[in-house]
Amino acid sequence: MIKIKDKEFVPFITEAELASRISALGKQISEEFKDDQPILIGVLNGAFMFLSDLAKVIDIPVEVSFVKMSSYAGTSSTGQVKELMGLGIDIKDRKVIVVEDIIDTGLSMAHLLDSLEGLEPAQIAVVTLLYKPEALKHDVKMDYVGFEIPNKFVVGYGLDYDGIGRNLSAIYQLK
Ligand code: 5GP
Ligand code: MG
Ligand code: MG
Repeated sequence: MIKIKDKEFVPFITEAELASRISALGKQISEEFKDDQPILIGVLNGAFMFLSDLAKVIDIPVEVSFVKMSSYAGTSSTGQVKELMGLGIDIKDRKVIVVEDIIDTGLSMAHLLDSLEGLEPAQIAVVTLLYKPEALKHDVKMDYVGFEIPNKFVVGYGLDYDGIGRNLSAIYQLK
């Protein structure tokens, strides 16, 4: 059990389970993009750890970049999405793979995909470590999903509770 501020969290997905699933995702992506030198675009802050581990098990050369857009405060979505920030590279006619920590309502991803499509990439694929099917409200594409999980708040492995816990090497669920 882990305590963060006022909340208690219990172990949910272990480091070994993460490593094994991410390794499988990496193999699949390496195979499907082997001739493309795609761009991995990590969504900060939540995807920093997932992108780092995923990039290491992708055995083809790729470009890596990050964007930022936050929509969450505490344990429930504010429903407000901010602008896309920080891409800093030209993705026109390139194949991009968006790397996200979690798709909850899908609002952040819907907004991000809209913004990226305007930049005319050749293809956009989406890989999300976690997906909460019961929470989804926006129709977003997901090409690779690490784990489908119940509609409960989770922390660790990049995900925070009120700013804390992103460093935890496993994923914990609200008790
Ligand atoms: P969405 O726009 O899909 O509702 O939410 C996406 C963002 O909300 C995620 O990228 C993540 O930052 C945050 N989020 C959604 N569900 C959770 C959760 O269970 N735990 C944490 N820590 N953040 C979440
Ligand atoms: Mg995220
Ligand atoms: Mg957060």
